[in-house]
Amino acid sequence: MSEKRYNWTKEEILEIYNKPMMELLYDAATIHRENHDPNTVQVSTLLSIKTGGCPEDCGYCPQAARYHTGLEGNDLMTVPHVKAQALRAKASGSSRVCMGAAWRNVKDGPEFDQVLEMVRTINKLDMEVCCTLGMITENQAKRLAEAGLYAYNHNLDTSEDYYKDVISTRAFEDRLDTISNVRKTNVTVCSGGIIGMGEKLEDRAGMLVALASLNPQPESTPINALVAVEGTPMEDIEPIAIWDMLRMVATTRIVMPETQVRLSAGRTEMSREGQAMCFFAGANSIFAGDKLLTTPNPDVNDDMEMFKLLGLNPQKPFTKVSQPKTVEAQDSEFQTLGEKPRWTRPGHTIERNETAKAKAKLS
Ligand code: SF4
Repeated sequence: MSEKRYNWTKEEILEIYNKPMMELLYDAATIHRENHDPNTVQVSTLLSIKTGGCPEDCGYCPQAARYHTGLEGNDLMTVPHVKAQALRAKASGSSRVCMGAAWRNVKDGPEFDQVLEMVRTINKLDMEVCCTLGMITENQAKRLAEAGLYAYNHNLDTSEDYYKDVISTRAFEDRLDTISNVRKTNVTVCSGGIIGMGEKLEDRAGMLVALASLNPQPESTPINALVAVEGTPMEDIEPIAIWDMLRMVATTRIVMPETQVRLSAGRTEMSREGQAMCFFAGANSIFAGDKLLTTPNPDVNDDMEMFKLLGLNPQKPFTKVSQPKTVEAQDSEFQTLGEKPRWTRPGHTIERNETAKAKAKLS
C-alpha cells in the first residue's frame, strides 16, 4: 500500500509529472486501485445559485463584474427552484449537488440563511451537498455544517507563486484560511485548481505541494482545464493538450492517494478516449450537467453512455463519509455574528486586468 505523505517537494512532484507516460500511468493506476474501486466514479451536479456580478478579478472567470463577457447574471435562486434542480440531478445519477454563488465572501443575513435552507433541503433528499460561496469564517462554516453540508469547495486555483498573476483582489493565504475554517467542522474539503492559464510546470507542481501538504489532504480535488472565455483577460489562451491533463491527473493521484480526483471544466474539449485514460490514471469523479456554472459541459446522457461503454458505475452518496445530520434553523446553536472579517486585498493590479478594462471601455 502506498504511503500517504504531506511533505512532497516541488522537485519530487516534477519528477513524477515528467516520467515516461506509460510508467506514470501504470504507477498512478496502481495507487488508484489500492485506494479506490477503479470502476466507480462519483457524479456531481454543479448548480449556479447566484450568477455573475462578482467583485473579484479572477483572470479566468466570466462571472467577474469587471469583465465584459455578455454573461447574464441572476439573483439568488429560491429554495423550491434549487430543490427541483436537485431532484432532477438525482434522477440522472448524481450523488452530489454543488451550489456555487459568485460572491467574494459570505455575508451573514437573509441570503446566507436562504443558502442554509437549501443545504437542509438537499441533505434531506439524501444527496451530498457541497457549497462554493467564496471565503467563509469559522462561524459560517459551523452553521453550514449544522445545516447538513457535506463538502465545501474552495480551490487554490494555482501555485502560490503564480497566484498574483491570476487574481489580485485576494491573497493565497485567504484561501488557506477559509480551508482551515472548514476543517474546524466535520465538513469535507474540496480544493483543486486550473491548468492551462499560462502557468509553468513548476506552478502545477507548486499547487500540488500546497494541496498535498494540507493535513488532512482534501477529500476531493477538481482538476480543471482553462476554458478561455471571450472578454476575460485569458480569452486568447489556447486549450491545453490532453497529455497535460493526463499527467496532472496521474500526478495528483500519486501524491494524494485517497482523494477523489475530479475531471472538471474543459471536459467538452476531451474525447471519450481521453477521458477514459484519465479514469485509468486515477480520476474518479466528474461534474455532470450541460453547464459548469457558466461554461459548457458534456450532456448527462452522453456521460451515462460513456459510463456504460467503459463499465463504470456512479458512486452512491455517502460512500466515503457518512451523511451529516441536519439541524433545523429554529434549533440552531449558533448566533449570526455579523462579523466583518478583514480578508486581505493586496494593492497591486495585474497587467492583464488593465488590458481587459481598457478593452471594455472601448466596447
Ligand atoms: S472565480 Fe469566483 S471569486 Fe473569482 S471572479 Fe469568478 S465568481 Fe468571483
